[in-house]
Amino acid sequence: SEKILARIESGEPFFSLEFFPPRTRSGAANLLARLDRMRQGGPLFCDITWHPAGNPGGDSETSSMTIAWASLNYSGLDTMLHMTSAGATVADIDRHLAKAKNMGIRNILALRGDRLEDGNPSDFEYATMLVKHIRKTYGDYFVIGVAGYPAGHPEAPSYDEDLKYLKEKVDAGADFIITQLFFKPEVFFKFVNDCREIGIRVPIIPGVMPIQSYDSLRHIVKLSKLEVPQEIVEIVEPLKHNDEAIRNYGIHQASEMIKAMFQSGVAPGVHFYTLNREVATISIIKQLGLWNCQPQRTLPWKVVPSYRRCQ
Ligand code: FAD
Repeated sequence: SEKILARIESGEPFFSLEFFPPRTRSGAANLLARLDRMRQGGPLFCDITWHPAGNPGGDSETSSMTIAWASLNYSGLDTMLHMTSAGATVADIDRHLAKAKNMGIRNILALRGDRLEDGNPSDFEYATMLVKHIRKTYGDYFVIGVAGYPAGHPEAPSYDEDLKYLKEKVDAGADFIITQLFFKPEVFFKFVNDCREIGIRVPIIPGVMPIQSYDSLRHIVKLSKLEVPQEIVEIVEPLKHNDEAIRNYGIHQASEMIKAMFQSGVAPGVHFYTLNREVATISIIKQLGLWNCQPQRTLPWKVVPSYRRCQ
């Protein structure tokens, strides 16, 4: 895989796409078809989440790894694999890293993950230790991303403490930060400003989740322990039985937010939490003029559409 860091730092706007491993074979087939379609838009990378508690469909590491392998080697996308350390031993992590390397993966999003109530104690208490371990074992082989929380991580004693730990995580060797989702560009501006003030200098990529349905919004917000701003609640609540209207609003809201972030020059690119769907995300990417902005990797067995220049 091509290293993505140089392109993150190139100053050219980009987008990246996050997916989770599907639970079924037909889900996997659908996702591969979707990756193929979204590849046409030239994402800088796609990334595959990691589920420490395991998927009902089988062994979690295997399914994240398998999808990551497929997105890289079948769909031809530069791929970042998420890896969580909660409940893992050094031997577990070493096994995963060796397998990832074997599969050609060069980019890891190093996470602690959510601690499981009945989980094993981990050799890695915080993501910082995972970052250190990857650097110690593999030097610069992997590009390492880490998570940042513009509203503070829900477990952190305070926003400032959380920022201090984020700095430690970056100092341990992280190359860039992807943020948790948020709903207003000002939240991102403040976060980047606060990071810069305490000496965090790596690229900070805003994570954006287009609002796609009332239920998924509620579900994600609950999982991430976030608050939806009142003005958004007031728009979405009356539309809760009208999926199309919510999706159109979500496209509008995300596009405006991303435009503001690009115009400010603060965001190097944008990371989409796709929730494994494509319509809203593609529509936003097109509205932003980012569809097909990055040259694509070619695979010998692929017919690649001719390269179109962005306006
Ligand atoms: P850490 O950076 O370790 O932070 C966790 C908490 O510990 C924070 O409150 C922090 O302030 C605190 N802390 C850190 N260091 C110290 C210290 N030295 N002393 C005391 N406190 C400290 N989850 C998944 O399960 N799979 C995924 O694929 C996944 N992908 C994600 C992608 C992104 C972009 C984001 C933003 C989150 C993702 N998550 C994922 C969720 C994430 O795993 C949880 O938010 C988790 O609770 C924290 O992980 P972390 O890596 O941010 O942890």
